[in-house]
Amino acid sequence: MIDKKERIKIAIQKSGRLTEHSLELLRQCGLKYTRGRDQLIGFGENMPLDILLVRDDDIPGLVRDDVCDLGIVGLNIVEECRLGYVAAGQAQPFSIARRLDYGHCRLSFGYPEDGPVQSVADLAGRRVATSYPNTVRDYLQRQGIAAEVVEFSGAVEIAPSLGRADAICDLVSTGTTMAANKLREGETILDSEAVIVKTPVALPAEKQAWVDRLLQRIDGVMQVRESKYIMMHAPKSALAEITSLLPGSEAPTVLPLEGRDDKVAVHVVCRETVFWETLENLKSAGASSVLVVPVEKMLA
Ligand code: ATP
Ligand code: ZN
Repeated sequence: MIDKKERIKIAIQKSGRLTEHSLELLRQCGLKYTRGRDQLIGFGENMPLDILLVRDDDIPGLVRDDVCDLGIVGLNIVEECRLGYVAAGQAQPFSIARRLDYGHCRLSFGYPEDGPVQSVADLAGRRVATSYPNTVRDYLQRQGIAAEVVEFSGAVEIAPSLGRADAICDLVSTGTTMAANKLREGETILDSEAVIVKTPVALPAEKQAWVDRLLQRIDGVMQVRESKYIMMHAPKSALAEITSLLPGSEAPTVLPLEGRDDKVAVHVVCRETVFWETLENLKSAGASSVLVVPVEKMLA
């Protein structure tokens, strides 16, 4: 049995936009867990890894303070926190181990449709409301714009109509919230997605080995999301053309077909999305019996 201290602790969002995806990612990495009675901890049954379910805003701090070894959180929160440390002249509290390609959103300015501010340049001498003061200040400073940053912890989009700000800077995914509040989306200052952050503290070898293993499994999970295994029959004469049509593939496996000298079977793993167009192009190049199947696991 592995000593308690040797168990990896990973912090994820307890309930919110990242929760389902994050738990699903850990499950896809092979983790089986049981939830504690208070629902705040998931105990790993088949790996020395426990899940802490917390508010997303607390995740960088838990990793920095070495309460958790890893955390899954939006890059928007990581960046805001990191800039806070930079401003205070402190050392980097964590590193980004992987980008996870879910929880996509952007941090953008929003301008009241009929207001005088319609771009960052117009913000000079005015007020911008945001929950991301460090990120916005850093951006304004780099643009050479002197504006007042008003910190809001929620409902930022109503700040202009309350007369508290001339513009906002907030997270957007579809843009409907801004539109509903008569705001026009302006410049984007950060493209965000969920990331996995890692403690800067050196881990005991056995623990580090499990962290490396988990990250390798995450790489595998991310690769198979898009990957497909493609099988087809192809004229030998068209092999080069057909291979060139396959997106993100390595050298194909070419197998003989019983009783056929002119055709072969081609099997290949494609690591990018296979579109109908690709299949149509394969057919035009002479391929037949094309079969596309999902890949369940992959270890590079
Ligand atoms: P918590 O209770 O954990 O503090 P929260 O309300 O701060 O939750 P959510 O709204 O669940 O957080 O968003 C979590 C993360 O999801 C954001 O930090 C961001 O990275 C990502 N996200 C993706 N799309 C959006 C969006 N349209 N608006 C806000 N966040 C989004
Ligand atoms: Zn939050």
